[in-house]
Amino acid sequence: MSKVDENELAFETRAIRAGQQRTAEGEHSEPIFPTSSYVFGSAAEAAARFSGEQPGNIYSRFTNPTVRTFEQRLASLEGGERCVATASGMAAILATCAGLLKAGDHIVSSRSIFGTTTMLFTNYLAKFGIDTSFVALTDPDAWSSAIRDSTRLLFVETPSNPLTEVADIAQLAKLAHARDCLLVVDNCFCTPALQQPLKDGADIVIHSATKYLDGQGRCIGGAVVGDEERVGKDIYGFLRTAGPTMSPFNAWVFLKGLETLSVRMQAHCERALALAQWLEAQAGVERVYYPGLKSHPQHALAARQQQGSGGIVSFDVRGGKASAWKLIDATAIFSITANLGDTKSTVTHPATTTHGRLTPEQRTEAGIGDGLIRLAVGLESVDDLKADLARGFAAL
Ligand SMILES: *Cc1c(COP(=O)(O)O)cnc(C)c1O
Repeated sequence: MSKVDENELAFETRAIRAGQQRTAEGEHSEPIFPTSSYVFGSAAEAAARFSGEQPGNIYSRFTNPTVRTFEQRLASLEGGERCVATASGMAAILATCAGLLKAGDHIVSSRSIFGTTTMLFTNYLAKFGIDTSFVALTDPDAWSSAIRDSTRLLFVETPSNPLTEVADIAQLAKLAHARDCLLVVDNCFCTPALQQPLKDGADIVIHSATKYLDGQGRCIGGAVVGDEERVGKDIYGFLRTAGPTMSPFNAWVFLKGLETLSVRMQAHCERALALAQWLEAQAGVERVYYPGLKSHPQHALAARQQQGSGGIVSFDVRGGKASAWKLIDATAIFSITANLGDTKSTVTHPATTTHGRLTPEQRTEAGIGDGLIRLAVGLESVDDLKADLARGFAAL
């Protein structure tokens, strides 16, 4: 695309075109480079590559053309200088912490984050002398008072899972910078199609590409996006040394996923809103959690910060766990699985799965009731999805 400035193009166009450089073969779709290493023209060229005098590929743990195309495309969509792709979303979080932190440093994190991220912080980073304090996502005073002299990172996921609480990214970024910290946002639920945290002042964006970036539940992958200094040097330096990098095949699948990201996210949002509104009118439902509903506590913030409310809808069914399980078991289309971000709709009972390891007190504190059901709304017909849930309610 040498004839136009890529940055001038609309999001949808960049999602399809950014980063592609055709080879001499003139291929239309992006090529996959399944090679572990690269050949040099001479001993002198090999030496120049290794010394860094001459740019270019050496080994696919360092660079790979298919992976680079994915990185450039996602960097463009998030509005970041640099992106590095990783083997999974968890590898993206590990690489960010390992690249930026050292023993004695401290993290302040939202309490409502992906369960495995909590375990990474408390079970593993703690072993290397990095402590984490957990605070309520939507309580700015709690964030402020948890920050210590040794705090380096504020970590947040918004909207939260499964209650869809929304954090004010611009406000947290201001707080982070006033206290000499970086704000890291896990943007897995919105994707850059609905939310660009770097534009709101965040320093680093994390992705599990496994979810909406793929969009069809095929591959595990992740990414970190931010500035050249931190992402391009500190985090990339850890990745190429420690090794949890993305395979070229997975990068190709995620490139295909990015090409349809805008239309898919809009379709997820439309279906999720329709289902959330329909659920609010059901007699068996106590409460619906969806940022697109007027009843949501951060509805106005979400409308300002996001270009759509996302595909995750949760609700409390009357009658606790027994009702929730009956409803889930009576559905025929929704897949009973904790995965999300797929064309296939999924249903989960958080209290006995994703949040099953918490004590009942911890669950109550986190707002996870026994009747809570989480839907990750896919791209099937919304009428079929309503009929499926109606089957569930009829079973109660
Ligand atoms: C799934 C998920 C992760 C972890 O990603 P993996 O690709 O499974 O390693 C991190 N954050 C959020 C919000 C997720 O949903």
